[in-house]
Amino acid sequence: MIGIQPIDQYARDISDEKQASVIDGSSKGTDKRYTVLHKDYSDPDALRKLAASIKDHTLHHLEDYLAKAEQSLTANGVNVHFAATDEDARQTILSILRSHEVTQLTKSKSMAAEEIHLNPFLIENGVECLESDLGEFIIQLDGDEPSHIVKPIIHLNRRDIAKTFLREGVTDQYNDDPETITRQARVHLRRKYMQAQACITGANFVCADTGRFALVTNEGNSRFGMAPVPVHIALVGIEKIIPEEKDLAVFLNLLGRSATGQQLTVYTEFITGPRSENQPDGPEHVHVVFMDNGRTDVLASNCKEILRCIRCGACQNVCPVYRQASGHAYRSTYGGPVGAVLSPILFGSRFPELADLPKASSLCGACNEVCPVDIPIPDLLLRLRDKAKRESIPSAGAIPMSPFATLATSPALWRTAMTMSKAMNHLPIQVAPIKPLQDWLGQRTLPDSHGGDFRKWMHSRKSTPQA
Ligand code: SF4
Repeated sequence: MIGIQPIDQYARDISDEKQASVIDGSSKGTDKRYTVLHKDYSDPDALRKLAASIKDHTLHHLEDYLAKAEQSLTANGVNVHFAATDEDARQTILSILRSHEVTQLTKSKSMAAEEIHLNPFLIENGVECLESDLGEFIIQLDGDEPSHIVKPIIHLNRRDIAKTFLREGVTDQYNDDPETITRQARVHLRRKYMQAQACITGANFVCADTGRFALVTNEGNSRFGMAPVPVHIALVGIEKIIPEEKDLAVFLNLLGRSATGQQLTVYTEFITGPRSENQPDGPEHVHVVFMDNGRTDVLASNCKEILRCIRCGACQNVCPVYRQASGHAYRSTYGGPVGAVLSPILFGSRFPELADLPKASSLCGACNEVCPVDIPIPDLLLRLRDKAKRESIPSAGAIPMSPFATLATSPALWRTAMTMSKAMNHLPIQVAPIKPLQDWLGQRTLPDSHGGDFRKWMHSRKSTPQA
């Protein structure tokens, strides 16, 4: 079916203000990443290739490393749970909370929790769940969805946030000074930390050898969340395991630089288990819920490299399609190039309409160039496009290739088309011959046509005697 793709529609409908926020937030991230990475490493490529090989090795032996991690975590006093699906994960978390009679908790940013829509589920089941990451807190107040893996409110500006705070009673005076906004949130959240009975986090890396897990934030909110409560639950995708603690040196160095252009994320927590007798605070009960939710399907697919992802968001920052359309255009938890690969495989059986996402790319290769674990995203997108074609999955925006084949195999037709294509440069969009072409041209600027120049060159070459 030829027609406008949903992502083009988002790019067309997005407000100028929102698009400016996305472009500004993503381009700054890209510039900082480049400066910090190249300042500290003479050969950043070697580091990301090392990271890729550690991840590939782990994924190749995932079952063994999962078993090893379970053993190490259990030895540290952590309760380990496994959830095959999103529903299993939600029910497991709810039953842990009920067993500890928790009715109020704080939650730090976790894409795994976003993936299973944990907040609305807990609220529906009588558990008050407050986001403690500033961006996620604003998303929660707005009833919105995150639009970036690392910067969930990349699509908002400070005026939007100030209005939200006033509307939702976080403050009684409009003030869009960023420092004031942060202070207002801080006062509000600190009260809530002390009232909570549990905290939920994700985990960036779980070390199979020691059972220690690492959690990074820039606001220290997970640390605040854990300190006063008796129960800590970490929801972790099974691909977050790394073999040994020493591997953290590779990944933490890459994550901070790739995500926010920092040498290291501001707060890095290493969690070994429940608090010991001589520790004054921290949870007495620690639970880790390992979640599959489609990851073994990804592992069995020809796109398993995407499971190397450490959720840094660098590919989103650099992607020209993401910058134009924003993360919401991808209609799933994971936007940008990583989402265009991951979402159709993770959620495709339930949401077949996501099969169009692999087409949301110009295949420029920038995502692969910045990826700290060297994921060949353009190759994976092509594999998914090929799969969709072979399985005849219909999607908007598919351009039928048979007319092109007819054109390309008939010299006379081709010559005529080349002559006409020059005229296209001078036609106003509205008079393009068919409506879908008008839609398509509405989103793109055609390069100047040089059709026919190659033929002329060949012709002159034939008539000029070669030395
Ligand atoms: S695919 Fe690579 S660049 Fe994109 S979020 Fe994952 S690790 Fe970062």
